[in-house]
Amino acid sequence: MTEVVPVTNVRMSRAEVTTLLGMILSAGHRISVGREAVAAWGAALTGYSLGECLAALVIHTQHSNHPPLAHDLIVHIRAARRKTLDAQVLAASAAKVDPAEAANAAEAHMSKIRAAMGWKRPDAHISALSVACPVPECLAAAGTPCRRTGARRKGRPDTVDLHKGVHASRTERAEQCQAERRADTLPHKEIPA
Ligand SMILES: [Zn+2]
Repeated sequence: MTEVVPVTNVRMSRAEVTTLLGMILSAGHRISVGREAVAAWGAALTGYSLGECLAALVIHTQHSNHPPLAHDLIVHIRAARRKTLDAQVLAASAAKVDPAEAANAAEAHMSKIRAAMGWKRPDAHISALSVACPVPECLAAAGTPCRRTGARRKGRPDTVDLHKGVHASRTERAEQCQAERRADTLPHKEIPA
């Protein structure tokens, strides 16, 4: 039997809260995003994981057309924990959402959130993973962490950052792609109402 996960004071990272807000937007809900919104959602959802919040969002969206409040997500998370069937609830939710499709949909909204937040650069980890690694000894595909190889670049070791899990060259390439996308003058897709 699964134990009910105790509420802790652990908070989601800024990147995780941003992912959640991106998913809420891609579910078709209109919510405000910005520095205050990310801080408020992060604080309100203290003790709950991104996985739980996304599963709760799926349940909320199946039952309501109204934009979810943090409280709505918490109600679903608590119900899921009480049922002590967390694994089954998450599995059922995951089955209805194609992870790749969901990630693409969320990413489409990320740039808007980043702009609203006034972030000069996107989260390097997420950004670097969005492109394939250019290091010949590695060539990790997009979405896959780098292989730990001792490559060299411009005479210096091109090491895999232990925290980010990517080669330095890959981060640079991702930033380059990001800059090119920003320079792109095509209008952004509208957020569905
Ligand atoms: Zn690599």
